[in-house]
This record gives sequence, structure tokens and C-alpha cells, in this order.
Amino acid sequence: MERIEEITTEVCKTLIEPKEKDIEEYGLNIKEILAKLGELGFFGINFPKEFGGVGLSFEESVRASMILSYYTSTISMIIGAHQLASYTIMNASNYLKEKYLKDLNRGKLIGAFSLTEPQAGSDPTTIKTTAVLDGDYYILNGTKAFVTNAGLANIYVIFAKTDPNALARGISAFVVESNSKGLHIGRHEEKMALPYLGNATLTLQDVKVPKENLIGRANLGFIIAMKTLDQGRVLTASGAVGLMERALNESIKYAKERVQGGVPIANHQIIQSYLAEMKTLLETSREIVLRAAKKKDEEAKDFGLFSSIAKYFATNSAVSVSRLATQIFGGSGYIRGYVVERLYREAKMYEIVEGTNEIQKLIIANQVLKG
Ligand SMILES: Cc1cc2nc3c(=O)[nH]c(=O)nc-3n(C[C@H](O)[C@H](O)[C@H](O)COP(=O)(O)OP(=O)(O)OC[C@H]3O[C@@H](n4cnc5c(N)ncnc54)[C@H](O)[C@@H]3O)c2cc1C
Repeated sequence: MERIEEITTEVCKTLIEPKEKDIEEYGLNIKEILAKLGELGFFGINFPKEFGGVGLSFEESVRASMILSYYTSTISMIIGAHQLASYTIMNASNYLKEKYLKDLNRGKLIGAFSLTEPQAGSDPTTIKTTAVLDGDYYILNGTKAFVTNAGLANIYVIFAKTDPNALARGISAFVVESNSKGLHIGRHEEKMALPYLGNATLTLQDVKVPKENLIGRANLGFIIAMKTLDQGRVLTASGAVGLMERALNESIKYAKERVQGGVPIANHQIIQSYLAEMKTLLETSREIVLRAAKKKDEEAKDFGLFSSIAKYFATNSAVSVSRLATQIFGGSGYIRGYVVERLYREAKMYEIVEGTNEIQKLIIANQVLKG
């Protein structure tokens, strides 16, 4: 375990730390860093070696993600969205795994996961994109929204209705190559944070997809999506942990340096109380995220429940911790260029993606009421 943490820290310190501003503020060096991380195995840490992965546990992958997110949310989000595509393809035929998964795990291909639509976010059973079988091809039509890695990805995992009269049981998943005729990528959304994380709408107009590119069985795509999101939520939560650790470290440093009333602000008890609160939220989040990851490795039945608890708790905590960090920085915390104001804006994203925290609470409540 310590080994993955040491390796990830070393890679981040050499590859990412010196270029942090370039990545986050100017969008530079991202492709080169992704290529290098791909070569080093960071795209497929917990995927089987036979499919180009490193063969480590999910917990190890989550530990690496916590460290990566400490240094850069942009790159960790790109890899997280990519891995959603890879996790989905783990449910596919050996033909699709051979064709795409090896290259995805080695970073030679970038993936994206596209479930959300303009009218279907929290309730994806109501997606309207259709896939109609016509000879050897499925013909896809529809609009997908907020797709992370849009424009960067070589392949899109797209969820579409193969039975438009059904809800969850009418959805299938497909691998769609980015150069497919009829696949259009819209303008990148301007977001509150993460300007160089590509998010856009995809429009599909009579896109022909070979029938072999169906992932798993027709009409069983929703179950695959939910299984995939269970893993994605833990990765999102691990991103929130990395962000909190960074916010806390920046705050400790600043509190020791900044002098007001003749003493460092760290001497003021209210500031100490903020730091204590931040550390408590960080460590409790770390524990619950690692517990959820272990549940996945142990194939525990309640993994889904713990994935939602981890996502809800850690991402909620990240907003609180980064808000306190900006408060500790005073006026400077509100000024562009100080890392804490960026972390505060980034933290808000974690509460929304991979199912909002309201939806996580619904999942948790559903499980506890089932008994
Ligand atoms: C930066 C970013 C990246 C994203 N990347 C991807 C991606 O790669 N792939 C992808 O498929 N999607 C992606 N999304 C979409 C994201 O998953 C959705 O935005 C999210 O699931 C919420 O859906 P929505 O925006 O339609 O909100 P809505 O579903 O319209 O929800 C609006 C509000 O109502 C609440 N709400 C909805 N239903 C209920 C309910 N039953 N009970 C209580 N409250 C409810 C929500 O919690 C929320 O507060 C991304 C979004 C963002 C912002």
C-alpha cells in the first residue's frame, strides 16, 4: 500500500507540481502529462494485467487518486471520467476488451462516459437517445449532456434506449468511436472551476455503431451504469479527500506565517478551531472512502451503500473544508491566484457529479429502510 502512495507522490512532485499553474490556469501540458501517466500505469491501476492494467486493488487505486487530486483536480477528473468508460467496458465481450481496454488502460486511448441528457440527470431511466438495430449496426440518435473529456476522448461509452417503452430495463451501453460519422461535439461549457476539464454536449445523428460494440447484453445497460457509478463515486470521494488535504496544508502554512495582533493567526483559538474541524473532516472522510474501497475489493454486498456514504460525506466535507480555508486566508482567500479560492470552487463540483448528494442520501435511505 505504502508503495503506491510513495510512487504516486514522487510522480506528482516531479511531473505535476512544477506545472500546476500551467495546468489549472492555462490548460498547458495536460496531454503530455496524461501520456506519461498512461505509460506509468495510472490509467489502469486496478485493472487486470491481461487487459493492460497494473493488477492492483481498488483500494490502491483510490489511494493513488487521493494523492493525484492533492496536486491537480483537472487531471484526476480526466482520469476518473476515463476510468468510468473502462469500468463499463469490463462488462463487455472479450472482443471489445481486447479492442479497447488494453489501450485505455495504457493511456493510448482516452475514454468518456455519457449517461446524462439535457432532460435526464438524476433520473437517467428517462434518457431519450435511441439505438435501433439495423442489420449489422445500431443507429444512434439523441443528445447527451455535460460529457467530461468531450473532445479529448477517442471513445465514448454511450447509454441509449434499445426499448424506448421501458425505463431502466430498456437501456443499453455502446462503445462509440470519436470519429464516427454523425457524432458532433458541442461548445465546451464554461464552468465555475476546472476550465481545462472538457465538458460538452454530444449530438448523435444517425451514428452507425457496429453491433459488436454493444457492451454486455441489450437492455441491461442500466445495471452496468449503476455498477460503474458505484466505483466512480468512491473515486470522486477520493478526489474530495485530496482536495481537503491540500486546503488544510495551505491553511496551516498560512496560519503560521500571517501575523495579526502581533502574533501568527495560528495563535488565535478560533483559527485553531477551524483547523481542528478541517482535520477532523479530512480524516473521517479518508477513513470512510478507504472503507468503501475495501468493500469493493472484498466484493461486499453493501459496497453500493458505502460508496454513496463515502461520496456524500467526503464531497460535502470538501466544500466545508475549502470554505474554512478561504476564511483563514481572509481577503487573500477571495483573490484569484491563491490556491484556496480555486479549491473552494472545485469542491462544489464534487457535490454534483456522479449523482448529486441528494441522490446519494436517497440511495442511503433506501438501503437502511430495506433493513
Ligand atoms: C463538471 C461536470 C461533469 C460531469 N460529467 C459527466 C459525465 O462525464 N458523464 C455524464 O453522464 N454526466 C456528467 N455530468 C452530469 C452530472 O452527473 C449531472 O449534472 C448530475 O447527475 C445532476 O443531474 P442534473 O444536472 O440534470 O440535475 P437534476 O437531476 O435536474 O437535479 C436538480 C436538483 O434536483 C435534485 N433532485 C433531482 N431529483 C431528486 C429527487 N428524486 N429527490 C431529491 N432531489 C432531487 C438534485 O439533487 C439537484 O439538486 C457532469 C456534470 C458536471 C457539472
